[in-house]
This record gives sequence, C-alpha cells and structure tokens, in this order.
Amino acid sequence: MDLQAFFKNEGIPLYTALPFEVCKVINPRLLERTLPDARSVLLFILPYYTGRDEGNLSLYARSKDYHLYAKELWGKLSALLSEAFPEHHFCSFVDHSPINEVHACGLGGLGVIGDNGLLITKDYGSFIFLGEVLSDLEYTAFGLPEPALHIEGCLHCGKCRQACPCHFEDCASGISQKKGTLTPEEQELFFKTDLIWGCDHCQLVCPLNKNAQKTAIPFFYEERINTLTAEGLDAMSKEEFEKRAFAWRGRAVPQRNLALWAERAERNAPTINPEKETTS
Ligand code: SF4
Ligand code: SF4
Repeated sequence: MDLQAFFKNEGIPLYTALPFEVCKVINPRLLERTLPDARSVLLFILPYYTGRDEGNLSLYARSKDYHLYAKELWGKLSALLSEAFPEHHFCSFVDHSPINEVHACGLGGLGVIGDNGLLITKDYGSFIFLGEVLSDLEYTAFGLPEPALHIEGCLHCGKCRQACPCHFEDCASGISQKKGTLTPEEQELFFKTDLIWGCDHCQLVCPLNKNAQKTAIPFFYEERINTLTAEGLDAMSKEEFEKRAFAWRGRAVPQRNLALWAERAERNAPTINPEKETTS
C-alpha cells in the first residue's frame, strides 16, 4: 500500500499519522460507539480555496457540500486500507470527531494553530477541511513521515480578533446557521459578516492566508454558487439543495437570512419625496 501516492493522486498535499494517546478526546461517547480501542489516527487536509470571487456565501460553502467529497474519498481510502490490513478496523471522521482535529493536526506538524482557533497550513492557509481515520493499527504501520509532536502558534498579530464581529466572544458564522428567529443583537452581528451564510473575516485578514494556493481537488471547482439569491434558492430541487453546504439546517435558515438582508436593503433605501419629484 502506498498511501503517499494515494493522497498525491487525490490532490491531498498534507497528511500524517499519530499515536492515538497524544490526541485530545473531546467526544468519548462517539469514540465508544466507533472505535474504543483506537491506537492511531491518520490525519489529512482537504484544501478548498479557489480564489476570492465576489459573493454572499462563505468561501467554504460555495462548492457542493464537502461531506460529499469526503464520503467519496473515504470509499476509496477504506478499500485501500482494508485490503492492506484486513485484520484491522478503520473509522473516518470530518468535523464531527471523537478527537480535537485542530490540535491533532497541529501535533502532526500539518500547520500552526492560529489565534482564531483554525489550523493554518503553509501553502493553503486555513482554507482547508480536516479529515481523519481512527484505527487499531500502530501509527508507524501507515509508512508516513514521523509527526512533529509539538504545536506551533501563529504570528499573534491580532488582526483576526480586530476583524471579528464578535471579538471572539461568539461566532457570527454560527449565528448565521442558527434556526428560528434571530434576536436584534444577533441580527447586528449577522449583518457584520457581509454574507448570508458563514463568515470569513478572520481568515481573510490573516497574513498567513495572503498567498494561499488554490486547491488541486476538482470537486471544489464543480457546480459552484458564489451568490445565492432568494429566487435561486426557491428554484432548487430538494436534491440540488441537499448537495449544498448551506443545507444542513434546512431551507428556512438561508431563506430567513436572505429575507433579513432584503429587509435591511429596503429600510436603508433612499426615500423619494413626491413633492420634490413634481415638476412645474
Ligand atoms: S468566523 Fe467571523 S465571527 Fe467567527 S470567529 Fe471568525 S471573524 Fe469571528
Ligand atoms: S490574523 Fe494574526 S493572530 Fe490571527 S490567526 Fe492570523 S497570524 Fe494569528
């Protein structure tokens, strides 16, 4: 099994394997349900950056939902691992993981940990998704270079905190994804994202993201939506909608967000004084 050749072929530039005991378990229940006797973790990054085109969606949410790509990738990777190690067990995770993914990737030397809480890689910045596979194999069995096993921090320049609408007390990206009615305070923070879904401010100002390279993974260039409109959203079939990263809270949430921006634009539109408009 040549894992490095597999990742290269998939356009995945950074990966490592760690002994499980150095990872921070943050969801013991999930670990118990999946692989309680985990001995190692295989980690990799999925760069998603394709440029900074104008739009009203967070950059991560403009391609189809990255979970679809992760699922496809896992199908291939699990076949490879099961063939090479038929006696062993493997479980894959993206986002919802038993371990702290950012901490593990930092320990693995895949990047530095930013003051904004994100992993920042040298070539792809923080415009990445993290993925991992837990296994009951020794980490050395994957045949990958040794992990760094120490964590490095970012430049601590403070730009991300200054740019954050919530000054890191909360996250407006999360607010944009909340169900139901937003309070007036939440609405103000939501408007400060300048988007209808997510928030990119802390990433866009980070000097370590300045020269981020574009991804080599074709999936992130397919069927992109930079700007979502109410009409575009209404016209999407159920299947089309469910393929998008902004679908996971249901259609009502992006609909509400679009309506909030529309109401705000109407409120702020200059009013026309009919008397002044009258010509003599
Ligand atoms: S995503 Fe936006 S709101 Fe959230 S921490 Fe970053 S700048 Fe702040
Ligand atoms: S903006 Fe500065 S402080 Fe924030 S993550 Fe980037 S380098 Fe670190």
